[in-house]
Amino acid sequence: MATNDYESGLKMLEELTTDAQQIQDQLLGEILSKNAETEYLQGFLHGQTDKQLFKKNVPIVTYEHLKPYIDRIANGEASSDILLVEPLIGFSLRHFGDINQAGKRMELMFAKPDVETPSGLKASAVSTRAFKGSSFKAILPKLYTSPFETIFCPDTKQSMYCQILFGLIQRDEVVMIGSIFASTVVRSIKFLENNWKELCSNIKTGQISEWITDSGCRNAASLMLKPNLELADLIEDVCSCKSWEGIIRKLWPKTKYIGTVCTGAMLQYTAELEFYCGGLPLVSGFYACSEGAVGINLEPLCKPSDVSYTFIPNTVYYEFLSIKEDCVTDSQNQVQLNAMSHHEDTGPVDLVNVKLGQCYEVLVTSSTGLYRYRVGDIIKVTGFHNNTPQFQFVGRQNVALGVDMERTSEADILKAVAEAKALLDPLGLILTEYTSYGDTSSTPGHYVIFWEIKPKEGNNNNKNGKELDPKVMEQCCSKMEDSLHFTYRMYRKENMIAALEIRVVKQGTFESLMDYFVTKGASLSQYKTPICIKSKEALNILDSRVIAKFFSPRTPIQDN
Ligand code: AMP
Repeated sequence: MATNDYESGLKMLEELTTDAQQIQDQLLGEILSKNAETEYLQGFLHGQTDKQLFKKNVPIVTYEHLKPYIDRIANGEASSDILLVEPLIGFSLRHFGDINQAGKRMELMFAKPDVETPSGLKASAVSTRAFKGSSFKAILPKLYTSPFETIFCPDTKQSMYCQILFGLIQRDEVVMIGSIFASTVVRSIKFLENNWKELCSNIKTGQISEWITDSGCRNAASLMLKPNLELADLIEDVCSCKSWEGIIRKLWPKTKYIGTVCTGAMLQYTAELEFYCGGLPLVSGFYACSEGAVGINLEPLCKPSDVSYTFIPNTVYYEFLSIKEDCVTDSQNQVQLNAMSHHEDTGPVDLVNVKLGQCYEVLVTSSTGLYRYRVGDIIKVTGFHNNTPQFQFVGRQNVALGVDMERTSEADILKAVAEAKALLDPLGLILTEYTSYGDTSSTPGHYVIFWEIKPKEGNNNNKNGKELDPKVMEQCCSKMEDSLHFTYRMYRKENMIAALEIRVVKQGTFESLMDYFVTKGASLSQYKTPICIKSKEALNILDSRVIAKFFSPRTPIQDN
């Protein structure tokens, strides 16, 4: 960014965060007066636009509440008077972050084909929509290593192969490496681990592999790929070393940082990323969601576990539902959400009225037809920038697991896994991915946690289930149980829940899981491994790759 742009950006941020209340009220006023005549708002406000009336009459809703309205629009009923006055031109499936930064970035981006609704409206990932924008296309060759065609290649394997190839051949220009979410960066490095020999051979010959059949990718290669023996040898040297610790720095020596979301569910990837990136900072630049809520990280160099985001007051109208005593702080100062987060009886508060230290669920009212909509994210207020709150992302509101009457949130699982995986460290092992499942096929039911583990040193393939120390693995099971919430531990003691099980899966299993979800329509750019598995097919993928099973040998500690 040029100095002037940077300075005017900072100035704008100062103004926005100082006048937050006024900007929020103005934004709400605009949204309501524009859409007062819609069927949805008419039903609650009868044409009025008063803020107090809005707060009194318009209900707080989830996606399920809005679904009938959205379905009617998708099915072709004139959209202009249902949720929005302006005609709806498409749906957002997902989000794309700000790309407006200087330097040549090796950013892995995957466009997802649009889906057409019965009425012919396009439903597209927000990221894909951003990739299609003319301004993005214009800056792409100058600022990014991935040619346009590789981002839009419908075959994600070919797309990833080519994006890594072009990143390698432009290695001297790369100053930043990233993707929207950390899971994609980790996946790319693993992909490189499996394919570097072939990539080097392509660079040596200047010919792209035959299996790259996508014409866009082949065209891009014919323009950019030239035989380069020296570069191929250099990459081969780096990649054939025994440990891949610090590989990113070695391959792309001018990289200044890894730009990717590492907070929330992505925290689980930071250990592996840190291993690969050899001391480069991991920068979680923003928090954003398809519904329009946006926060930016004003201290990009702080550790992922300490990141706070500052809300941007002019994007959507925010309200916050206070959460009762369910947010706790663990030893590493990480906020965790307990099993069931109840809302306080008080109504939602405005952006500038949130309290320091308090946890809230985020509601948005946007110019895209969402009114008092529950995004499902829980945040904790950690400070203020001028009058605008800063927050730590705590987790998703939804409940992940339950095999009896107990409810265990994503954040509970995250915390339990974080504590248990520390036991692998002395053995030179890293937990690379995990997910969970509530197994009720026998009574009582029990929690199953799928773990993919790899050694810190050496290549991917030298650990199988037999080499894992059963004692340590059982300790991991118990540690997880000890870290779970009171109700879980009590139910375990009463034998209403059976012993927690860790199923270790073959390396590459979570890649197969991701492939499965991508074939089912998930956007690869925005893919997040589900913390809990609900689908039978996904479960089969995991179960068919299990190499060892371990159970907790004792009931959990009751008094922490
Ligand atoms: P999407 O549905 O793809 O728009 O993803 C948006 C969701 O991703 C948000 O509602 C959050 O749950 C999660 N998310 C986005 N940014 C962050 C972040 N910086 N830290 C943690 N979670 C995030």
